[in-house]
Amino acid sequence: MNDDSHETKGLTRRDFIRVGATGAMGVALSGMGELTVSAAETPGLLPRRRYGRTGLEISTLVGAYDWSPAVIPLAVKSGVNYWHKGHRWTSETMPEAIKSQPRESYYLEITVDRVGGDHMKGRIDEEQHYQFVKEAVARSGAGYYDVFKFHFGYHSLNEAKTDMGMVRAYERLKKEGLVKHLAISQHHYNNIGGDMAYDIVTYLIEHSPYEAAQFFYTYGDKQELEEVLALAKKKDFGTIAMKTMGGVGRASTDKKFQTLLAEPRFSGSTPGAAMVKWLMSNPNLTAAVIATNNFDQLQENFNAARQSTMSSSDRQTLGLLAAYNKGLTCLLCADCVSHCPEHIAIADILRYERYALDYHELSRARAEYRTLTKDGSACIACGDCMPACKADINIVAKLKEVHHLLG
Ligand code: SF4
Ligand code: SF4
Repeated sequence: MNDDSHETKGLTRRDFIRVGATGAMGVALSGMGELTVSAAETPGLLPRRRYGRTGLEISTLVGAYDWSPAVIPLAVKSGVNYWHKGHRWTSETMPEAIKSQPRESYYLEITVDRVGGDHMKGRIDEEQHYQFVKEAVARSGAGYYDVFKFHFGYHSLNEAKTDMGMVRAYERLKKEGLVKHLAISQHHYNNIGGDMAYDIVTYLIEHSPYEAAQFFYTYGDKQELEEVLALAKKKDFGTIAMKTMGGVGRASTDKKFQTLLAEPRFSGSTPGAAMVKWLMSNPNLTAAVIATNNFDQLQENFNAARQSTMSSSDRQTLGLLAAYNKGLTCLLCADCVSHCPEHIAIADILRYERYALDYHELSRARAEYRTLTKDGSACIACGDCMPACKADINIVAKLKEVHHLLG
């Protein structure tokens, strides 16, 4: 996947380098003439799939507002047409490569958070969510958001059934033409006595106006996730996988892993590319959102998404990654957290570790870690959580390590 001579449909390594250089300059100079190529002019570069009941045809790899500005023009040129957290851009900061396109050719998502606290302590408040979106639309100059996404999601099935504040805010905004579709980004809440993401999403697929959901999903994940994806497909409900690349970043800088990967049986494969192909080979999944900070990552991920079929080397590479992750990388399944008498958000802490070690975003990881009410230092080493971990992580030792890294 890193073969520089590899040529994809109309997009070569030279294009990446050329656009990379001009893209970086374009950000500084606000002049990106050659980069404003319409996705419609380069059809088929990235496959698109129906985002469930929304009816939107979105690129199988979706973009995010926090991608490096240098890669966004090329992402647009390669067919990315959906932007996660697109509301973070104002009319001034939205990349020219996006806003110069016809408005109906790309989709912007607004993520709406609880108010009066973080995703665990905050509350749903119809009026404040309504005002938040109205103000964001005005700032963005985009006219409307294609997808209103409840960020972090419901705490429990009961809340999903009884608290209609988020849905009502969406419906008011939809009537005014400021949003078009309703989706959710659902996390697990068993650390605060709530429910697991897959149980809540299953309910929403069957019983509510939600049209799509985003949730954690990676290789080796639980059967429940496969069941949610199958149900979603059957019921025409869109799905976006997030936090898919567990261990990929740390493996890329681990000399031992790289020595093993050089063996002929892994030839032509990398953990990142194999993971993307594995995701894309699941017809029940609409798309994935993957942190992308540089051209090499973009090239590797996009080339893999175009191919989608896994080779035997890819399968072996994922097996190698799974073995590497055992005892090392949290899969964010949250199975351990309900066992903790101290109510430590173990999976959140290990998600922040992932930001540091896999995405190489240490300051973001430290900032998130500082927001925790109870961090890793609250662990009393009782060991109650450890039998629940199928990834064989020594959680006591891991929390100490992460506190040392991020605390
Ligand atoms: S070992 Fe630490 S994290 Fe695990 S249950 Fe005990 S206090 Fe909680
Ligand atoms: S530490 Fe283990 S049980 Fe807990 S969330 Fe991570 S993988 Fe799951």
